[in-house]
Parts: sequence; C-alpha cells; structure tokens
Amino acid sequence: MTTTDETTSPSSSRGMSMHTRMLIGFLVGALAGLACYALARDAVWLDDVVTYVSQPIGELFLRLLFMLVIPLVFSALVLGVVEIGDPRALGRLGFKTLLWILGVTALAVAIGLILVNLFQPGLGVSPEVGKQLLAEAGHRASEIAARREAISAREMLLGIVPRNPVRAAADGNLLGVMFFALMFGIAAAVVRNEGTRTFVGTMQGIYDISLKLIEWVIRIAPYAVAALLFTLTARMGWDVLVQLARYVGVVLLALGIQLFVVLPLLVRTLGRMPLKRFFGGSETAMVTAFSTSSSSATLPTTLRAAEKNLGVPRSVARFVCTLGATANMNGTALYEGVTVLFLAQFFGVDLSLAQQLLVLLVCVLGGVGAAGVPGGSLPVIAMILAMFGIPPEGIGLVLGIDRLLDMSRTTLNVTGDLAASVVIARSEMRGDADAEATTAET
Ligand code: ASP
Repeated sequence: MTTTDETTSPSSSRGMSMHTRMLIGFLVGALAGLACYALARDAVWLDDVVTYVSQPIGELFLRLLFMLVIPLVFSALVLGVVEIGDPRALGRLGFKTLLWILGVTALAVAIGLILVNLFQPGLGVSPEVGKQLLAEAGHRASEIAARREAISAREMLLGIVPRNPVRAAADGNLLGVMFFALMFGIAAAVVRNEGTRTFVGTMQGIYDISLKLIEWVIRIAPYAVAALLFTLTARMGWDVLVQLARYVGVVLLALGIQLFVVLPLLVRTLGRMPLKRFFGGSETAMVTAFSTSSSSATLPTTLRAAEKNLGVPRSVARFVCTLGATANMNGTALYEGVTVLFLAQFFGVDLSLAQQLLVLLVCVLGGVGAAGVPGGSLPVIAMILAMFGIPPEGIGLVLGIDRLLDMSRTTLNVTGDLAASVVIARSEMRGDADAEATTAET
C-alpha cells in the first residue's frame, strides 16, 4: 500500500505538534475534572456540564472514529492481501512474510495479554463506580449489555464467517468484516484482469481517503481528550490517573520484552545476524520511527537501513518492509490488546479466556488493518472495544498519554519489519543455496 507523503506526514502540525496539543487537552481536562471533583462532586450543575457538554463532545469524536473503521479496515486488508498474494511474482516470499506477520504479531499480543492479566492495571475501581461508569456510557449501555450476551465464544467464532457482510459491518462485527475482506483480497490477487485491477485501484483510493479523514478527525482530538478526561475525573477523581500510570507501565514493559528479547532472539537464531550489527544498522530507522510515530513516514529510512546497513537484498527489503509498514505491526497489535483488556478491567467487564483469545485474533488482524500513521490504530481500538461490550469512551483515557505510547509502539513496528526482512532474507539465501546444491547434484 503506497501512500502519498502528505497523508503520512505526522499529523501535519502547524506550530505545536498534535501530540503536544493532545497532552495539553489531557492536562486541562484532567485538572478541571479533578478540581470539580474536589469542590463540587455532588453539585447538579456539574452533572449538567458533564451530561450536556463534555460527554457529547467526547461522543462526537468517537462517532467520527467509528465512521472510518469499516472503509479503513476493509481497504487496508484487501490491499495487504493483494500485495502479499501476487501468486506469480511473490508466492514464496509472500507466504513467508504472511507467516511471520501472523506468528510474531500473535506472540507480541500474547505477551501483552499475559502482562495485563498478571499486573491487572485496570483493577481498583470499586464495582459500584465501574457499574456507574458503564451506565453512564449513556444510551449505549443497554445496547452494550445486549451485545455482551450475544458474544458467547461459540457465537463469536461462528460470527467470523458472516452470513451477510453488510450486516456484519452495520453490527460492528469487525472480525466478520475482516474475514470478508481477506477473502476478497485473496480472490482479487488470484484473478488478475482489468476488472480486479480497477477494484484494487478503487481500494487504494478508499484507503488514501480514509487516511486523510483520520488526519482531520485527529485534529479535534485535543478537545475530545479534554472533554473525555473531564468526564472521567469529575466523576472518579484522582484514582483514574493512578491506574493510567500503571497501564502505561504495562504497555512499555510488554513492548520492551518484544523489542529487546523476542525480536533479538529471532534475529540471532533464524537470521544469524549479530545483535550489535542488527541494532546498529536499525538505529536510524528506529529513531525516525520514534520521532515521527509513523511507520509509513519512516518507510524510506527503513528501506535504506535494510538494504545498506543490514545487507538485505533489494527485492526482499522492498517487499517485506513496504508491506510491513502497514501490515506488520507488532507494537500496534500488542498495544491494542493491552488497551482493550485494561479498559475491560477498568469498566468491570469480565472477559473469559475464550474471549481473550478472540481479542488476540482481532488484534493480530487489527495490526494489519491499522494505518501506519500517528494514531492509526485508534479507530480499530474504538471498534474492538464496542465489539466486546467495553465503553469506547475509555479511549479518552488512553488518548491523552498517547504520544509516548505511539512513539514506542511505532519503534517496535519498524524494528519488527527490519527483523522480518533479515530473517526472511536469510531463509531465501538458504533456499537458493539448497536449490543450487540440488542442481549441482543432478
Ligand atoms: N503510529 C503507528 C504506526 O505508524 C500506528 C498506531 O499504532 O497508531 O506504526
């Protein structure tokens, strides 16, 4: 998936960066909320302000995010599969890349999920407050309750194959939509004629337009963050913030394990590259990813690092890193998993083991479906939350501190692409050597 430079520029900030503005929104909302909590917790006017001002503003932002999920995820997945699956040119390479994306991303999400279960950063809100928060998700509460009942593990597994894809989209059955998109992409990759090429071109158009819209929606994020944070702190006081700090700790720890333990192990054993060389060669790309929070904007640097510093053959680097910039997102998938479980704990929504496994699956696909731009995973997270009956308002909690987390997860995303290119290049070399040996024997 190629994107124009304009779409991938980090939140096109004029003056102050978007992340700084979000942080300011977070602080203003949180401080105002805390002050109101301390001074006028039970006042009627505070209730009115929350109900008629801060809640609707936050809700508006969430609606805009939801609006973009289906076009974004559908087009991103179709394009991702089409690019992997060109059967003539890239069969073997495509298969290995797909295997890597699914396997390593699943591992990353699993690490995240294990840590959230271990540390339980979202617990601590009293059950009454949790219930109150759930109820205050307003008119959506009953809808959510209904959906929670609907999501038994069996139903959800069957729901992966939607009877009616349009209804799946309308019902917010993200998994069903993803499955449909994957099937569509596979068929579009197999049937290569003028009609399917036009279709793929249209998908590229929809993808680019969705990215532009996300950029616009994210511009109002600072106000939404202030409103969402105000709503929460005015009702809950200081406790929310303590929990948030624990959540940040868990995300960073999980990202760290994947970045400094899992990837190095894979690079060393499967890629047979000394770690000093790998991290030395990846450094510029990692720093660029950290500072731009965008895998797509980092892509030129990633390609350069792979080819020049890590000695990955051009054909492999191009394929793996270009595709990886939008589809191979270890950090994003991990972050989605931790966030969903954290907010589930926070709002007192119990997720069974089977449901958590489904979260894992959705997050792996969510990593493929998220755009490689700052905050690209937000629409996907909002949708996953709704899917599991967790109030999407919770996203306001994590948005305000998204800067550090976005920078960190993007760094892991890009390093994951480089690790993939090293390992896959190595296996291609072995494949070629085996083929040569067989030819020599015969
Ligand atoms: N900023 C991330 C990236 O570009 C995507 C995300 O998780 O929001 O890789």
